[in-house]
Amino acid sequence: MEKVLLKKGRERSVLRRHPWIFSGAIEGPVPEGVASGGTVEVCAADGAVLGFGSYSPASQIRVRMLSYGADRAPDAAFVKERVFASVGRRGDFFVNAYTDAMRLVNAESDGLPGVVADYYAGWVVCQFTSAGAEFWKDAVADALMSAAPGCLGVSERLDIDVRAKEGLPREPAFRVLRGAEPPELVEIAEGPCKFLIDVRKGHKTGFYLDQRDARAAVGPLANGADVLNCFSYTGGFGLFARACGAASVVQVDVSADALALARRNEEIQHMCGTRMEYVEADVFKYLRSCRDAGRTFDMIVLDPPKFAETKAQVMKAARGYKDINLLAMKLLRPGGTLATFSCSGAMTPELFDKILAEASEDAGRSFQVVARTRQGADHPVALSFPEGHYLKGVVLREFS
Ligand code: SAH
Repeated sequence: MEKVLLKKGRERSVLRRHPWIFSGAIEGPVPEGVASGGTVEVCAADGAVLGFGSYSPASQIRVRMLSYGADRAPDAAFVKERVFASVGRRGDFFVNAYTDAMRLVNAESDGLPGVVADYYAGWVVCQFTSAGAEFWKDAVADALMSAAPGCLGVSERLDIDVRAKEGLPREPAFRVLRGAEPPELVEIAEGPCKFLIDVRKGHKTGFYLDQRDARAAVGPLANGADVLNCFSYTGGFGLFARACGAASVVQVDVSADALALARRNEEIQHMCGTRMEYVEADVFKYLRSCRDAGRTFDMIVLDPPKFAETKAQVMKAARGYKDINLLAMKLLRPGGTLATFSCSGAMTPELFDKILAEASEDAGRSFQVVARTRQGADHPVALSFPEGHYLKGVVLREFS
């Protein structure tokens, strides 16, 4: 097996079980003859074997660790065991009736770098985002087909930008790997709501499963409220607010497709008296138009897409976050609630709090934090891999 030798001192992060080895940490020439995603033995400068990882020739993250210590090199059986273990750790979810949709494999934090697998009522949808993940695809798909309860089929989404960085194809956008072809829309349940999931064209693998806990936390605060749900996508927070007795909900998104599915999602919920409005608009502009029209709300949800991809973009992203939060704070009625989120990993919780504090100062209003949310337990974060924590939510209540 080919060896990758690390520069002196660069073994430390591997010993702490951080799974990424950047190209700059590697000593000497890159090994020849290793297939993209193939396994290499990773050694410290003194030759000590640190473990085995998957080789990504095109990526800055040149090796992703699969196993630590001097054990046997990972094979297909090893990868399948990891998948079974990962699904097994979700056992508690499967016995509770709250939802039939969850993440089964959360990449690095489940010991399977680059492998994401989401479960939607029997249908598993994967993303393979690294060369190593691509290399072990067959083993992963086989294991998921038998490990996921009542699995009807395993498919994959390839239309993801990170695959280009790994030198992997992005076409076709969607492919069935095992089992049957999923229906055009898969229906799932989440607490008091039902959602239709477009596994072929929806964002990520079709749904923002990572916001489950936040939807559950924010919904009940909407009882009797006039709610503005910004960046609504297929309606998640707005439909939760509706199910919890909101007086009215405005769902705003720039995507006509997302709003069309949000409307269909409304049709499959229980009947209720909440007034629903759908607005196809840029949130930055829409918030200003509400300000100009003097329109106010009891609750505003801000769940924007990633504004910062990298640390370098954080300052620019900070301006975007401050802008929408400041505008939203001004639109809140006395005692109103702002549920605000950032899914940029590069935006630290501390910086996000600072931005919110500055926005409240500029808005001339006081807020108290009533809840904090994060990605749910099916999106765990390995302690040795803090990069896995990307989603932050702060629920604020106006009290001036
Ligand atoms: N809250 C949602 C997920 C939001 S994802 C849920 O729980 O399911 C972010 C959404 O923001 C996407 O649907 C995207 O279409 C939308 N979006 C991105 N930029 C936007 C903008 N400037 N104005 C309005 N919507 C935008």
